[in-house]
Amino acid sequence: MGFNKKVAQEEARRCPQCAVATCLPGCPLGIDIPGFIRLLREGDTNGALERIRKDNPFAAICGRVCPAPCEESCVFHADGNPIAVRELERFAADHGALKPEKMQAAAGSKKVAVIGSGPAGMSAAYYLAKSNLSVTIFEAAHLPGGILCYGIPEFRLPQKVLDDEFRRLKLLGVEVRTDAVFGRTLMLDEIFMSGFSAVLLATGAGLPRFSELNGMSLSGVYYDSEFLNRAQSIGKEKALDFAIRQGMPAPKTVVVGRGPSAFDAARFASRLGSEVTVVLDGFEEEAGVGADILQESREEGVGMLSMQAVEMTGDGNGYVAGVKCRKLDIVEGEKGLRLELSKEDPVVLEAQCVIMANGHRPGGFLRQYLPHLKWEAGGFLWTDGQTGMTSVDKVFGCGSVAGAGETLLASLVSGKAAARKIADHLGRS
Ligand SMILES: Cc1cc2nc3c(=O)[nH]c(=O)nc-3n(C[C@H](O)[C@H](O)[C@H](O)COP(=O)(O)OP(=O)(O)OC[C@H]3O[C@@H](n4cnc5c(N)ncnc54)[C@H](O)[C@@H]3O)c2cc1C
Ligand code: SF4
Repeated sequence: MGFNKKVAQEEARRCPQCAVATCLPGCPLGIDIPGFIRLLREGDTNGALERIRKDNPFAAICGRVCPAPCEESCVFHADGNPIAVRELERFAADHGALKPEKMQAAAGSKKVAVIGSGPAGMSAAYYLAKSNLSVTIFEAAHLPGGILCYGIPEFRLPQKVLDDEFRRLKLLGVEVRTDAVFGRTLMLDEIFMSGFSAVLLATGAGLPRFSELNGMSLSGVYYDSEFLNRAQSIGKEKALDFAIRQGMPAPKTVVVGRGPSAFDAARFASRLGSEVTVVLDGFEEEAGVGADILQESREEGVGMLSMQAVEMTGDGNGYVAGVKCRKLDIVEGEKGLRLELSKEDPVVLEAQCVIMANGHRPGGFLRQYLPHLKWEAGGFLWTDGQTGMTSVDKVFGCGSVAGAGETLLASLVSGKAAARKIADHLGRS
């Protein structure tokens, strides 16, 4: 639900306003953290929001799903009780009210096409518009937002928050065209012929890293993004009902992997009534999510086991029946405790639904459509470090497609940097 005013003020008062604020370098967006917290303490919520928005146009989103590295650099982090900066940011975004920023690019402004409306594309569009360029976002999906819309469920990031952020982008003059698939219904030469001076690829890393475990082709085995996208394909507010109508609930679900998408899938399955276990080949601290998500998942009944999945087992009729796992023993090594494969026989965890969360990478689509694009060895789009341009003239790249968007924060930073480089290129900065 977020903080109410009383709790927010109490938390803001706990901030010691350090002479050398260690939280500051923790936020890659450069938000004046002590400054906005001081304003909250003084009861000036609008001022606090204004201070945040100076460096982060998407406070309501970050206030909910930012990994909050700033809290790790808070002086109270070592005691396990850092200032709840992210929650305070959310409070300011939800309760502060500012006059909407309205802009319209001047007549004759150069036009930039942003392909993809995830956080990288949103951030780039915002800063391009602020540079007085005329911006159009082209999005393949029916709704804008990328993973924020089709990946992260409603209970962590409500659709209304996203709708509000896009409404603000539109007030800045950004046009958002959905159902526009670059390379299929919208071609590069067509974009340039219709007067755009630059194209920014922010198409994300939507392809799962495939698993080679036996049994992956059994019915009932999904990848994390497939599971979440399928359930949320008609909009996330209706996702639970829609998933039930599709017959997605299973008595038992095992999620194999780590990271926010593993836990989103686990909690979504749990909300469908399934008994859910996350199998993680590491310690809980290596789950790739913050302590808050671990705690909330536990409170929702999600179990966690440190084990290594080795194979999916079938029921003999093509459906998954379980996950065979090797136990991990805790052993003391030179560098402290570590996990080691146990010599005990593997166990089978019963599951009618298995969700693999192996991470993601860019799909092969752009490679096929634009064979002149250069790619990094890791499978990410190459861009020139100085200019941000890809190997195709006037085509730029940012976000997770370009290996710079593993988190929401990284994507926002990358989109902002790309906007500055495009504005430089077009002589608008
Ligand atoms: C389930 C899940 C939960 C997550 N939770 C968190 C979290 O809590 N905190 C965090 O920091 N990070 C989280 N992440 C990671 C974060 O969401 C990503 O790092 C971020 O979304 C990447 O942003 P992006 O803009 O590069 O790509 P995306 O968000 O993937 O957006 C890319 C967009 O491009 C569009 N597109 C692709 N191809 C085309 C085309 N040919 N034509 C037009 N449009 C196209 C796609 O439809 C999509 O809308 C999560 C990821 C997942 C999968
Ligand atoms: S955007 Fe993230 S890192 Fe920056 S202040 Fe907010 S919660 Fe902290």
